Amino acid sequence: MHEMSYVVRFVNQAIDALKDEEGKASKVRVSVGEMTDVLPEYLHKYYPQAVKGTILEGSELEVEMVPVRVICGGCGSEYHPCRENKYLCPSCGDGNGKVVAGRDVVLEQIEISDEH
Ligand SMILES: [Zn+2]
Repeated sequence: MHEMSYVVRFVNQAIDALKDEEGKASKVRVSVGEMTDVLPEYLHKYYPQAVKGTILEGSELEVEMVPVRVICGGCGSEYHPCRENKYLCPSCGDGNGKVVAGRDVVLEQIEISDEH
């Protein structure tokens, strides 16, 4: 399961981001790109194991799905590649787009509670 490696990575990023914080993390929000094939249910499943014994233990994980976005190499417009447009730019038909969103799991936000 490649989900575990994503969990380990964003958990480490979050721990790193929290090392100067006084409070305790109450919620961790991540976005999951459509292209990653990551199933949110696995993130939720592995999260408690990954944060056990860390500053994140007991925090809630929130997962948001993000669709793939591509910037067209031909005309510069942004589009969502899908079967309907044959994964090509709907404006000019170009296929050399640059993926700008939706191909990674990204740590978006950490909510801190002041309770000690
Ligand atoms: Zn185009």
